[in-house]
Amino acid sequence: MSLLSQTKAFQQALAAWYSTAQRSLPWRTAPSLYKTVVSELMAQQTQIKTMLPYFDRWLKRFPDFEALAEAPSEDVLKHWEGLGYYSRARNLHKLAKDYVTLETKPTTAKQWQALPGIGPYTSAAISSIAQNYPAAVVDGNVVRILARLTNDTRCFKNNGDAVKAFTPTADMVLNHNTPGDHNQAMMELGATICQKANPLCTVCPVVQFCAAVASGSQENIPNIQRKATQQVQIDRIWSVNDGKLLLHRIPDDAQQLAGQYELPATTHFKGKPQLDKALTTKTRGITNKRIKETIYRLKPPTSALKAQPSNLHWIALDQLERVTLSGPHRRWVNELLKQDA
Ligand code: SF4
Repeated sequence: MSLLSQTKAFQQALAAWYSTAQRSLPWRTAPSLYKTVVSELMAQQTQIKTMLPYFDRWLKRFPDFEALAEAPSEDVLKHWEGLGYYSRARNLHKLAKDYVTLETKPTTAKQWQALPGIGPYTSAAISSIAQNYPAAVVDGNVVRILARLTNDTRCFKNNGDAVKAFTPTADMVLNHNTPGDHNQAMMELGATICQKANPLCTVCPVVQFCAAVASGSQENIPNIQRKATQQVQIDRIWSVNDGKLLLHRIPDDAQQLAGQYELPATTHFKGKPQLDKALTTKTRGITNKRIKETIYRLKPPTSALKAQPSNLHWIALDQLERVTLSGPHRRWVNELLKQDA
């Protein structure tokens, strides 16, 4: 059975599976528009199981749009600490401030896109799940499912091109009676069954519509070109003096991580700081960047410290919990403090 000639049967098979297989999640068991908005923004770059404790903590502190709109930005960032991609927290905060002042609240995907941080995917997810608006979500998961179902072997330059190419198919198979459940079922299928590697085709509820599995080509689909990996080296400083740790505050106008603290990089100093031994080297990947960060002890006293720029700050060790550090920096600070003890 091909997908496009049997959309009704496909929708029914997907819905029947989702009604029994869906995971019990706090925004599904007691749904609300606000919970849907928060969960969709949080889930943009974070796996569901990672975000669950953050979601609970967020809801306790900011239970609705009004509470979030009134909260100070430091508090909002602090409650996002550990989730990364902080522009999502700033956008959610701005969105709440805008939402509470709107006389006419958004009810369609297009109207949601006028609010901060809401693109085509998130607007379709929010309006369909919370407001029953018929908009199909299309992200990497949905592209993967649709490309495999239709055995589409085209090569795409990037994810954006693939999303554009599969949007008409997603619209065609969308169940207009229950668009929210249909979209969530597609997301769930991508997350738990039609995974990137080793899709679980033998237990797939829509296997009878899948052209790729019939030809054994599912593992090679979709065909999206990978960006070349970029190697980046950053040298960072560890300096504890008089019960205080030297940290760099990322300027408020920075595009990423604005207002957060981090271990300073050597480039944050005027002149070249005098480095002692390397304490540790960390590697991590962010999108196509392979970042290697070596943390050196700074030789005190140094002229570099006397003439420190205004965004370097000495933070008392017993006040470290009060400042927002990104997830990796929080881990490194805790590890190095233990090492120093
Ligand atoms: S049969 Fe396999 S490849 Fe096809 S949709 Fe299901 S899990 Fe994905």
